[in-house]
Amino acid sequence: MQTSLADFIRDTPEGREADAILRKCVHCGFCNATCPTYQLLGDELDGPRGRIYLVKQVLEGVAPTAKTRLHLDRCLTCRACETTCPSGVQYGRLADIGRAIVEEKVGRGPWEGLQRAVLSAVLPRTGWFSFFWGFGRFFKPFLPKSLEQKIPSETHEAGTWPAPRHARKMLVLAGCVQPALAPEINAAAARVLDRAGISLIEAPGAGCCGALRFHLNEQEAGRRDMRTLIDAWWPMVERGELEAIVMTASGCGTTVREYGHLLAGDPAYADKAKRISAMTRDLCEVVPAEKVMKKNNPGRVAFQSPCSLQHGQQLRGRVEALLASAGYSLSPVAESHLCCGSSGTYSILQPELSEQLRARKLAALGAGEPDVVATANIGCLMHLQAGADKPVRHWIQLLDEASGSADNPGS
Ligand code: SF4
Ligand code: SF4
Repeated sequence: MQTSLADFIRDTPEGREADAILRKCVHCGFCNATCPTYQLLGDELDGPRGRIYLVKQVLEGVAPTAKTRLHLDRCLTCRACETTCPSGVQYGRLADIGRAIVEEKVGRGPWEGLQRAVLSAVLPRTGWFSFFWGFGRFFKPFLPKSLEQKIPSETHEAGTWPAPRHARKMLVLAGCVQPALAPEINAAAARVLDRAGISLIEAPGAGCCGALRFHLNEQEAGRRDMRTLIDAWWPMVERGELEAIVMTASGCGTTVREYGHLLAGDPAYADKAKRISAMTRDLCEVVPAEKVMKKNNPGRVAFQSPCSLQHGQQLRGRVEALLASAGYSLSPVAESHLCCGSSGTYSILQPELSEQLRARKLAALGAGEPDVVATANIGCLMHLQAGADKPVRHWIQLLDEASGSADNPGS
Protein backbone atom coordinates (compact mmCIF):
# COMPACT_ATOMS: atom_id res chain seq x y z
CA MET A 1 0.00 0.00 0.00
CA GLN A 2 1.38 3.43 -0.99
CA THR A 3 1.55 5.92 1.87
CA SER A 4 2.17 9.62 2.28
CA LEU A 5 2.14 10.35 5.98
CA ALA A 6 1.40 13.88 7.21
CA ASP A 7 4.13 16.04 8.78
CA PHE A 8 2.74 15.69 12.33
CA ILE A 9 3.50 11.94 12.42
CA ARG A 10 5.97 11.13 9.61
CA ASP A 11 9.23 11.38 11.53
CA THR A 12 8.05 9.99 14.85
CA PRO A 13 8.61 6.39 16.06
CA GLU A 14 4.83 5.77 15.75
CA GLY A 15 4.81 7.22 12.23
CA ARG A 16 7.67 5.04 11.08
CA GLU A 17 6.09 1.95 12.61
CA ALA A 18 2.67 2.70 11.10
CA ASP A 19 4.20 3.37 7.70
CA ALA A 20 6.01 0.01 7.71
CA ILE A 21 2.80 -1.79 8.71
CA LEU A 22 0.67 -0.02 6.08
CA ARG A 23 3.14 -0.79 3.32
CA LYS A 24 2.75 -4.51 3.97
CA CYS A 25 -1.01 -4.50 3.35
CA VAL A 26 -1.95 -5.60 -0.20
CA HIS A 27 -5.72 -4.88 0.15
CA CYS A 28 -6.61 -8.53 -0.44
CA GLY A 29 -9.38 -8.52 2.17
CA PHE A 30 -8.73 -12.10 3.35
CA CYS A 31 -8.81 -10.71 6.90
CA ASN A 32 -12.47 -9.70 6.57
CA ALA A 33 -13.47 -13.36 6.47
CA THR A 34 -12.38 -13.95 10.07
CA CYS A 35 -13.30 -10.57 11.56
CA PRO A 36 -16.17 -10.88 14.04
CA THR A 37 -17.50 -7.35 13.55
CA TYR A 38 -17.42 -7.69 9.76
CA GLN A 39 -19.30 -10.96 10.13
CA LEU A 40 -22.00 -9.27 12.21
CA LEU A 41 -22.29 -5.90 10.47
CA GLY A 42 -21.16 -6.62 6.90
CA ASP A 43 -19.76 -3.10 6.57
CA GLU A 44 -16.30 -2.72 5.01
CA LEU A 45 -15.45 -0.09 7.63
CA ASP A 46 -16.22 -2.61 10.39
CA GLY A 47 -13.63 -5.00 9.04
CA PRO A 48 -9.82 -4.86 9.31
CA ARG A 49 -9.17 -3.71 5.75
CA GLY A 50 -11.60 -0.79 6.14
CA ARG A 51 -10.18 0.15 9.53
CA ILE A 52 -6.68 0.08 8.07
CA TYR A 53 -7.85 2.58 5.44
CA LEU A 54 -9.40 4.78 8.13
CA VAL A 55 -6.17 4.87 10.12
CA LYS A 56 -4.16 5.50 6.94
CA GLN A 57 -6.35 8.50 6.10
CA VAL A 58 -5.91 9.93 9.60
CA LEU A 59 -2.14 9.47 9.41
CA GLU A 60 -2.15 11.19 6.03
CA GLY A 61 -3.81 14.25 7.53
CA VAL A 62 -7.56 13.70 6.99
CA ALA A 63 -9.47 14.97 10.05
CA PRO A 64 -11.09 12.04 11.91
CA THR A 65 -14.76 12.24 12.84
CA ALA A 66 -17.05 10.57 15.36
CA LYS A 67 -17.76 7.99 12.64
CA THR A 68 -14.04 7.16 12.33
CA ARG A 69 -13.92 6.63 16.07
CA LEU A 70 -17.08 4.52 16.07
CA HIS A 71 -15.59 2.02 13.61
CA LEU A 72 -12.37 1.86 15.65
CA ASP A 73 -14.34 1.52 18.91
CA ARG A 74 -16.29 -1.39 17.48
CA CYS A 75 -13.07 -3.32 16.84
CA LEU A 76 -12.53 -5.91 19.58
CA THR A 77 -8.74 -5.91 19.11
CA CYS A 78 -9.12 -9.68 18.92
CA ARG A 79 -6.38 -9.87 16.26
CA ALA A 80 -8.04 -12.70 14.34
CA CYS A 81 -7.17 -10.60 11.29
CA GLU A 82 -3.46 -10.88 12.11
CA THR A 83 -3.67 -14.66 12.19
CA THR A 84 -5.41 -14.67 8.81
CA CYS A 85 -3.32 -12.05 7.03
CA PRO A 86 -0.91 -13.64 4.53
CA SER A 87 1.29 -10.50 4.50
CA GLY A 88 1.97 -10.32 8.24
CA VAL A 89 0.20 -6.99 8.80
CA GLN A 90 0.33 -6.13 12.50
CA TYR A 91 -3.16 -4.69 12.66
CA GLY A 92 -3.19 -4.45 16.48
CA ARG A 93 -0.19 -2.11 16.59
CA LEU A 94 -1.61 0.04 13.80
CA ALA A 95 -4.97 0.25 15.59
CA ASP A 96 -3.23 1.39 18.81
CA ILE A 97 -1.41 4.15 16.92
CA GLY A 98 -4.55 5.26 15.08
CA ARG A 99 -6.77 5.15 18.15
CA ALA A 100 -4.41 7.35 20.19
CA ILE A 101 -4.58 10.08 17.53
CA VAL A 102 -8.34 9.80 17.00
CA GLU A 103 -8.96 9.92 20.76
CA GLU A 104 -7.01 13.17 20.97
CA LYS A 105 -8.82 14.80 18.06
CA VAL A 106 -12.43 13.66 18.55
CA GLY A 107 -13.99 14.35 21.95
CA ARG A 108 -16.45 11.99 23.60
CA GLY A 109 -19.87 12.92 24.99
CA PRO A 110 -20.32 13.32 28.78
CA TRP A 111 -21.92 9.89 29.38
CA GLU A 112 -19.30 8.02 27.36
CA GLY A 113 -16.52 10.02 29.01
CA LEU A 114 -17.89 9.29 32.48
CA GLN A 115 -18.33 5.58 31.76
CA ARG A 116 -14.73 5.31 30.59
CA ALA A 117 -13.41 7.38 33.49
CA VAL A 118 -15.14 5.12 36.04
CA LEU A 119 -13.88 1.94 34.35
CA SER A 120 -10.38 3.35 34.19
CA ALA A 121 -10.43 4.42 37.85
CA VAL A 122 -11.98 1.28 39.35
CA LEU A 123 -11.00 -1.81 37.35
CA PRO A 124 -7.20 -1.63 37.62
CA ARG A 125 -7.31 -1.15 41.41
CA THR A 126 -8.04 -4.42 43.17
CA GLY A 127 -9.12 -2.71 46.44
CA TRP A 128 -11.63 -0.42 44.76
CA PHE A 129 -12.85 -3.15 42.47
CA SER A 130 -13.39 -5.55 45.40
CA PHE A 131 -15.37 -2.87 47.23
CA PHE A 132 -17.69 -2.19 44.27
CA TRP A 133 -17.95 -5.89 43.47
CA GLY A 134 -19.08 -6.64 47.06
CA PHE A 135 -21.54 -3.75 46.86
CA GLY A 136 -22.90 -5.06 43.54
CA ARG A 137 -23.34 -8.56 44.97
CA PHE A 138 -25.26 -7.19 47.94
CA PHE A 139 -27.64 -5.18 45.73
CA LYS A 140 -27.77 -7.78 42.94
CA PRO A 141 -31.55 -8.42 43.31
CA PHE A 142 -32.24 -4.72 42.75
CA LEU A 143 -30.00 -4.24 39.71
CA PRO A 144 -31.21 -4.06 36.10
CA LYS A 145 -31.18 -7.46 34.36
CA SER A 146 -28.20 -6.57 32.12
CA LEU A 147 -26.03 -5.79 35.17
CA GLU A 148 -27.42 -8.52 37.41
CA GLN A 149 -26.43 -11.12 34.79
CA LYS A 150 -22.78 -10.11 35.10
CA ILE A 151 -22.63 -10.81 38.84
CA PRO A 152 -22.50 -14.52 39.76
CA SER A 153 -24.40 -15.74 42.83
CA GLU A 154 -21.65 -18.03 44.09
CA THR A 155 -18.34 -17.05 45.61
CA HIS A 156 -15.33 -19.34 45.66
CA GLU A 157 -12.58 -19.83 48.17
CA ALA A 158 -9.05 -19.86 46.79
CA GLY A 159 -8.12 -23.11 48.57
CA THR A 160 -4.63 -23.98 49.76
CA TRP A 161 -1.59 -22.28 48.23
CA PRO A 162 1.42 -24.56 48.79
CA ALA A 163 4.39 -22.99 50.57
CA PRO A 164 7.40 -22.49 48.27
CA ARG A 165 9.52 -25.61 48.68
CA HIS A 166 11.10 -26.26 45.28
CA ALA A 167 14.34 -24.99 43.78
CA ARG A 168 12.42 -24.21 40.58
CA LYS A 169 10.47 -20.98 41.12
CA MET A 170 8.13 -18.97 38.93
CA LEU A 171 6.43 -15.67 39.57
CA VAL A 172 2.73 -15.32 38.78
CA LEU A 173 0.86 -12.12 38.01
CA ALA A 174 -1.83 -11.54 40.64
CA GLY A 175 -3.67 -9.11 38.37
CA CYS A 176 -6.36 -6.55 39.16
CA VAL A 177 -9.87 -8.01 38.86
CA GLN A 178 -8.95 -11.71 39.06
CA PRO A 179 -8.05 -11.77 42.78
CA ALA A 180 -11.55 -10.45 43.57
CA LEU A 181 -13.49 -12.48 41.02
CA ALA A 182 -11.70 -15.82 41.06
CA PRO A 183 -8.84 -16.17 43.58
CA GLU A 184 -9.10 -19.94 43.06
CA ILE A 185 -7.44 -19.73 39.63
CA ASN A 186 -3.95 -18.74 40.76
CA ALA A 187 -4.21 -21.07 43.77
CA ALA A 188 -5.09 -23.98 41.44
CA ALA A 189 -2.11 -23.06 39.24
CA ALA A 190 0.14 -23.06 42.32
CA ARG A 191 -1.07 -26.55 43.34
CA VAL A 192 -0.69 -28.05 39.85
CA LEU A 193 2.81 -26.61 39.45
CA ASP A 194 3.76 -27.62 43.00
CA ARG A 195 2.98 -31.25 42.12
CA ALA A 196 5.20 -30.84 39.06
CA GLY A 197 8.12 -29.60 41.20
CA ILE A 198 7.72 -25.87 40.61
CA SER A 199 6.86 -23.30 43.29
CA LEU A 200 4.64 -20.46 42.17
CA ILE A 201 4.88 -17.15 44.01
CA GLU A 202 3.16 -13.77 43.83
CA ALA A 203 5.02 -10.50 44.35
CA PRO A 204 3.57 -8.14 46.95
CA GLY A 205 2.18 -4.92 45.49
CA ALA A 206 1.95 -6.25 41.91
CA GLY A 207 -1.38 -5.24 40.40
CA CYS A 208 -2.74 -4.43 36.97
CA CYS A 209 -0.60 -5.19 33.91
CA GLY A 210 -1.75 -1.97 32.22
CA ALA A 211 -3.89 -3.61 29.53
CA LEU A 212 -7.17 -2.23 30.85
CA ARG A 213 -6.25 1.43 30.63
CA PHE A 214 -4.12 1.02 27.55
CA HIS A 215 -7.07 -0.48 25.66
CA LEU A 216 -9.44 2.17 27.01
CA ASN A 217 -7.19 4.46 24.99
CA GLU A 218 -5.56 5.95 28.06
CA GLN A 219 -2.25 4.75 26.71
CA GLU A 220 -0.04 6.84 28.99
CA ALA A 221 -1.97 5.74 32.10
CA GLY A 222 -1.61 2.15 30.87
CA ARG A 223 2.16 2.64 30.57
CA ARG A 224 2.24 4.00 34.13
CA ASP A 225 0.56 0.78 35.32
CA MET A 226 3.18 -1.21 33.40
CA ARG A 227 6.03 0.68 35.09
CA THR A 228 4.45 0.17 38.52
CA LEU A 229 4.22 -3.57 37.88
CA ILE A 230 7.81 -3.72 36.66
CA ASP A 231 8.92 -1.93 39.86
CA ALA A 232 7.06 -4.49 41.99
CA TRP A 233 8.62 -7.43 40.13
CA TRP A 234 12.08 -6.10 39.51
CA PRO A 235 13.79 -6.98 42.84
CA MET A 236 12.78 -10.65 42.37
CA VAL A 237 13.75 -10.64 38.70
CA GLU A 238 17.12 -9.05 39.48
CA ARG A 239 17.99 -11.68 42.08
CA GLY A 240 17.88 -14.19 39.21
CA GLU A 241 15.90 -16.77 41.16
CA LEU A 242 12.93 -16.93 38.78
CA GLU A 243 12.64 -19.31 35.88
CA ALA A 244 9.69 -17.50 34.31
CA ILE A 245 6.88 -15.01 34.86
CA VAL A 246 3.59 -16.85 34.48
CA MET A 247 0.26 -15.49 33.30
CA THR A 248 -2.97 -17.23 34.24
CA ALA A 249 -5.03 -14.69 32.25
CA SER A 250 -4.10 -14.79 28.57
CA GLY A 251 -5.26 -11.19 28.06
CA CYS A 252 -2.63 -9.96 30.53
CA GLY A 253 -0.04 -12.27 28.98
CA THR A 254 -0.47 -10.69 25.56
CA THR A 255 0.19 -7.25 27.03
CA VAL A 256 3.13 -8.21 29.27
CA ARG A 257 4.77 -9.96 26.30
CA GLU A 258 4.61 -6.58 24.53
CA TYR A 259 6.15 -4.50 27.36
CA GLY A 260 9.49 -4.51 25.55
CA HIS A 261 7.84 -2.86 22.57
CA LEU A 262 5.43 -0.60 24.45
CA LEU A 263 8.15 0.84 26.71
CA ALA A 264 10.94 0.88 24.12
CA GLY A 265 10.89 4.69 24.09
CA ASP A 266 11.41 5.00 27.85
CA PRO A 267 15.15 4.93 28.64
CA ALA A 268 14.52 4.17 32.34
CA TYR A 269 12.38 1.11 31.65
CA ALA A 270 13.19 -0.14 28.14
CA ASP A 271 15.74 -2.80 29.20
CA LYS A 272 13.74 -3.98 32.19
CA ALA A 273 10.58 -4.20 30.05
CA LYS A 274 12.42 -6.22 27.42
CA ARG A 275 13.72 -8.67 30.00
CA ILE A 276 10.29 -9.08 31.59
CA SER A 277 8.66 -9.72 28.21
CA ALA A 278 11.29 -12.34 27.42
CA MET A 279 10.58 -14.14 30.72
CA THR A 280 6.80 -14.12 30.28
CA ARG A 281 4.96 -17.38 29.59
CA ASP A 282 1.34 -18.36 29.51
CA LEU A 283 0.47 -21.01 32.08
CA CYS A 284 -0.12 -23.57 29.31
CA GLU A 285 3.54 -23.22 28.31
CA VAL A 286 4.91 -24.11 31.74
CA VAL A 287 2.68 -26.95 32.96
CA PRO A 288 4.63 -30.09 31.97
CA ALA A 289 2.23 -32.44 30.14
CA GLU A 290 4.12 -35.51 31.36
CA LYS A 291 3.50 -34.52 35.01
CA VAL A 292 -0.24 -33.90 34.63
CA MET A 293 -2.14 -36.38 36.78
CA LYS A 294 -4.70 -38.37 34.85
CA LYS A 295 -8.17 -39.35 36.00
CA ASN A 296 -10.46 -41.89 34.37
CA ASN A 297 -13.23 -40.14 32.50
CA PRO A 298 -13.38 -36.83 34.43
CA GLY A 299 -15.86 -35.44 31.87
CA ARG A 300 -16.40 -33.72 28.57
CA VAL A 301 -15.04 -30.22 28.03
CA ALA A 302 -15.53 -27.55 25.38
CA PHE A 303 -12.50 -25.27 25.34
CA GLN A 304 -12.95 -21.63 24.38
CA SER A 305 -9.57 -20.44 23.24
CA PRO A 306 -9.39 -16.70 24.06
CA CYS A 307 -8.27 -14.43 21.22
CA SER A 308 -5.40 -13.26 23.40
CA LEU A 309 -4.17 -16.86 23.56
CA GLN A 310 -4.69 -18.01 19.97
CA HIS A 311 -4.18 -14.73 18.07
CA GLY A 312 -2.34 -12.43 20.50
CA GLN A 313 0.19 -15.06 21.64
CA GLN A 314 -0.26 -17.53 18.79
CA LEU A 315 -0.64 -20.42 21.25
CA ARG A 316 -3.03 -22.94 19.79
CA GLY A 317 -3.76 -26.52 20.84
CA ARG A 318 -1.67 -26.50 24.03
CA VAL A 319 -4.46 -26.24 26.58
CA GLU A 320 -6.48 -28.84 24.69
CA ALA A 321 -3.47 -31.22 24.85
CA LEU A 322 -3.10 -30.67 28.61
CA LEU A 323 -6.81 -31.30 29.21
CA ALA A 324 -6.56 -34.49 27.16
CA SER A 325 -3.51 -35.57 29.23
CA ALA A 326 -5.65 -35.20 32.36
CA GLY A 327 -8.24 -37.55 30.84
CA TYR A 328 -10.86 -35.03 29.69
CA SER A 329 -12.59 -35.62 26.40
CA LEU A 330 -12.68 -32.51 24.23
CA SER A 331 -15.88 -31.66 22.39
CA PRO A 332 -15.49 -29.98 18.98
CA VAL A 333 -16.11 -26.21 18.78
CA ALA A 334 -17.05 -24.60 15.46
CA GLU A 335 -15.75 -21.11 14.56
CA SER A 336 -13.17 -21.45 17.31
CA HIS A 337 -11.23 -18.47 15.86
CA LEU A 338 -14.09 -16.04 16.60
CA CYS A 339 -14.11 -13.76 19.64
CA CYS A 340 -16.67 -14.37 22.41
CA GLY A 341 -17.33 -10.62 22.69
CA SER A 342 -15.66 -10.04 26.06
CA SER A 343 -12.44 -8.23 25.11
CA GLY A 344 -11.63 -6.25 28.26
CA THR A 345 -14.24 -3.53 28.70
CA TYR A 346 -15.83 -4.12 25.27
CA SER A 347 -18.76 -6.05 26.78
CA ILE A 348 -19.64 -2.94 28.81
CA LEU A 349 -18.93 -0.34 26.12
CA GLN A 350 -20.40 -2.22 23.13
CA PRO A 351 -23.05 -4.40 24.80
CA GLU A 352 -25.15 -5.18 21.70
CA LEU A 353 -22.31 -6.51 19.57
CA SER A 354 -20.81 -8.24 22.57
CA GLU A 355 -24.04 -10.09 23.39
CA GLN A 356 -24.48 -11.24 19.79
CA LEU A 357 -20.97 -12.64 19.80
CA ARG A 358 -21.51 -14.33 23.14
CA ALA A 359 -24.72 -16.01 21.95
CA ARG A 360 -22.92 -17.28 18.85
CA LYS A 361 -19.97 -18.53 20.90
CA LEU A 362 -22.16 -20.24 23.51
CA ALA A 363 -24.10 -22.02 20.77
CA ALA A 364 -20.82 -23.28 19.27
CA LEU A 365 -19.48 -24.34 22.68
CA GLY A 366 -22.70 -26.10 23.64
CA ALA A 367 -23.17 -27.99 20.35
CA GLY A 368 -21.01 -30.94 21.47
CA GLU A 369 -22.92 -31.23 24.76
CA PRO A 370 -19.99 -30.74 27.12
CA ASP A 371 -20.29 -31.02 30.92
CA VAL A 372 -18.22 -27.91 31.36
CA VAL A 373 -16.75 -25.03 29.35
CA ALA A 374 -13.11 -24.16 29.95
CA THR A 375 -11.26 -21.00 29.06
CA ALA A 376 -7.93 -19.28 29.77
CA ASN A 377 -8.86 -15.71 30.55
CA ILE A 378 -10.86 -14.23 33.43
CA GLY A 379 -12.67 -11.71 31.20
CA CYS A 380 -13.94 -14.44 28.84
CA LEU A 381 -14.83 -16.64 31.82
CA MET A 382 -17.06 -14.03 33.47
CA HIS A 383 -18.59 -12.92 30.18
CA LEU A 384 -19.46 -16.46 29.06
CA GLN A 385 -20.67 -17.53 32.49
CA ALA A 386 -23.18 -14.66 32.54
CA GLY A 387 -25.01 -16.22 29.57
CA ALA A 388 -24.19 -19.92 29.94
CA ASP A 389 -26.30 -22.78 31.27
CA LYS A 390 -23.17 -24.81 32.07
CA PRO A 391 -20.30 -24.07 34.43
CA VAL A 392 -17.45 -22.06 32.89
CA ARG A 393 -14.05 -22.64 34.52
CA HIS A 394 -10.41 -21.85 34.00
CA TRP A 395 -8.75 -24.92 32.47
CA ILE A 396 -6.20 -25.10 35.32
CA GLN A 397 -9.04 -25.77 37.77
CA LEU A 398 -9.99 -28.83 35.73
CA LEU A 399 -6.41 -30.10 35.81
CA ASP A 400 -6.30 -29.51 39.55
CA GLU A 401 -9.54 -31.40 40.08
CA ALA A 402 -8.52 -34.28 37.82
CA SER A 403 -5.52 -34.81 40.09
CA GLY A 404 -7.98 -35.66 42.86
CA SER A 405 -7.82 -32.55 44.97
CA ALA A 406 -9.00 -29.03 44.38
CA ASP A 407 -7.52 -27.59 47.50
CA ASN A 408 -4.70 -29.74 48.76
CA PRO A 409 -1.14 -29.30 47.68
CA GLY A 410 -0.59 -33.00 47.15
CA SER A 411 2.74 -34.68 47.33
S1 SF4 B 1 -8.90 -7.04 15.67
FE1 SF4 B 1 -10.69 -8.41 15.48
S2 SF4 B 1 -12.47 -7.03 15.40
FE2 SF4 B 1 -10.64 -5.79 15.05
S3 SF4 B 1 -10.43 -5.69 12.84
FE3 SF4 B 1 -9.16 -7.41 13.51
S4 SF4 B 1 -10.48 -9.22 13.39
FE4 SF4 B 1 -11.82 -7.40 13.28
S1 SF4 C 1 -5.35 -9.83 4.85
FE1 SF4 C 1 -3.57 -8.56 5.37
S2 SF4 C 1 -2.84 -7.78 3.41
FE2 SF4 C 1 -4.94 -8.53 3.05
S3 SF4 C 1 -6.23 -6.68 3.39
FE3 SF4 C 1 -6.13 -7.77 5.34
S4 SF4 C 1 -4.41 -6.78 6.42
FE4 SF4 C 1 -4.22 -6.21 4.24
